[in-house]
Amino acid sequence: MKICRFNHSRIGVVEGDVVYDITAVLSELPIIQYPVPLGDHLYLHMDQVIERMPQLMAQADRLSLTEVALTSPVANPSKIIGTPSNYMAHRIEAGADKEISVYSKGKRRPVEEQGLFLKANSSLIGPSDGVKISMPERRTDHEGEIAIVIGRQARSVSPEQAMDYVHGYALALDMVVRGPEDRSFRKSVDTFSVLGPWVVSRDDVGAHDDINFRLLVNGEERQAANTSQMLMNIPKQIAWASQFYTLYPGDIIMTGTCQGVGPVQAGDTIRVEAEAIGTMDVPVS
Ligand code: MN
Repeated sequence: MKICRFNHSRIGVVEGDVVYDITAVLSELPIIQYPVPLGDHLYLHMDQVIERMPQLMAQADRLSLTEVALTSPVANPSKIIGTPSNYMAHRIEAGADKEISVYSKGKRRPVEEQGLFLKANSSLIGPSDGVKISMPERRTDHEGEIAIVIGRQARSVSPEQAMDYVHGYALALDMVVRGPEDRSFRKSVDTFSVLGPWVVSRDDVGAHDDINFRLLVNGEERQAANTSQMLMNIPKQIAWASQFYTLYPGDIIMTGTCQGVGPVQAGDTIRVEAEAIGTMDVPVS
């Protein structure tokens, strides 16, 4: 099942080129009261949503995928976690790239030594929103990644249990502006966390360690890899993160980028695609 958010406040289920508008389900969920529980409201109650799905879809308005604006399929994660330097070929290129390595020599260290990092929730957008370059005097790079969306609250789970806590997968862009400052500062610029085009249920994607994905800029391939090439696989990332942070439904883990990271400019279009998930086109301005 592919769940999307569109036109900012609508919830949809995507089948082929059709979006079923199931926004009506929101009125059936518990009323949110202050203080708002951590986690995304929709993903906190996803079991209830899925149970109602056959009826919701039967009654839903149907729209064409081409006529909706896809926003981030998670509206309110409690956090966005990033996994650094998780592909060997990218670690090598980051070490060889003068502009990257002059600022962050530590990039060549193993993931386990660097730790995970966090990106501000306010940087999260969907493909239709577009990435905005706010520091044109600096280099802004794309990092195409596979993202995990948490489905159940997790704390200190083992790698063997970890996938049980995953709702599904999405495509992600972990955008970054190069410079000497802390990584979380440079990766939390508004619009620098892109999630889309929708979230595909875990069972519909297949093995977590065999997902092909690639990134193109203006139609030219820049990045391509398979999740089997990760240095720290997805269950280990979830287990490790959960030792430090409680993971809440809707939390996002950007699982690391592969070789081919490079700059983008206003006017470019970034495409991220994975056969098992979908394709998203993200304009840069
Ligand atoms: Mn990244």
